[in-house]
Amino acid sequence: MIPVLAAYESIELDEIIPLFFFITLSIGYFALRRWKEGKELIKTLKEMATLDPLTTLFNRRKIETELARSIKYSERFKQALSIVIIDIDHFKQVNDKHGHDIGDVVLIEFSNLLTLHCRDTDIVGRWGGEEFIIVAPQTNIFETYDLAERIRSHVEKHLFPEVNSITCSLGIAAYRADHQIEDTIRRADKALYQAKNEGRNKVQTFEEEE
Ligand code: GH3
Ligand code: MG
Ligand code: MG
Repeated sequence: MIPVLAAYESIELDEIIPLFFFITLSIGYFALRRWKEGKELIKTLKEMATLDPLTTLFNRRKIETELARSIKYSERFKQALSIVIIDIDHFKQVNDKHGHDIGDVVLIEFSNLLTLHCRDTDIVGRWGGEEFIIVAPQTNIFETYDLAERIRSHVEKHLFPEVNSITCSLGIAAYRADHQIEDTIRRADKALYQAKNEGRNKVQTFEEEE
């Protein structure tokens, strides 16, 4: 007899085999559950690192990564690339008049509108506060203008809960191969600033200085 079993002579083999299967199944089930929990945790951590918690759009860090990737692609394949920076007009008044919670609802609905009216290939993110960004790969400045104008017009017509209508201003710039990423963002920002100065609810393209 196997020495280990000698100490348990009273246990029959037909009792050990089901016990063995039961223990193996329990360990397997336990391991599977831990593995599934681990996968869920990784997914949650990834989402926390890349998504804005309020709007679930890409956060600024993820947009910066995506923009850098899109620029590499555009340089390699000699394709156009443009960005749009969008800022909700007089958003402070929305908070002041209707409260911060309604302001949050407006930001969520505004984000949904952006996603709805962008193309599948556009990358949409929250740039910060009430500012958003669209990275439009394979899109020249004229096509980007059409996209931005479409968004401006849809936002203007949309009825938001409580506040009814809001407007937004949009600055657009095309990436130039001899420029840094930051230059493109700075140019789109300048265009946005101009759109604000020209009365808001407007799309403005960055005009080259030279
Ligand atoms: P402008 O037309 O010049 O852009 O005016 P504005 O009022 O939109 O701009 P301003 O920078 O004065 O105010 C932005 C406001 O956005 C102030 C800030 O409290 C609000 N805001 C930023 N992030 C959030 C947020 O997550 N939720 C809410 N409810 N408000 C936010
Ligand atoms: Mg702003
Ligand atoms: Mg604003």
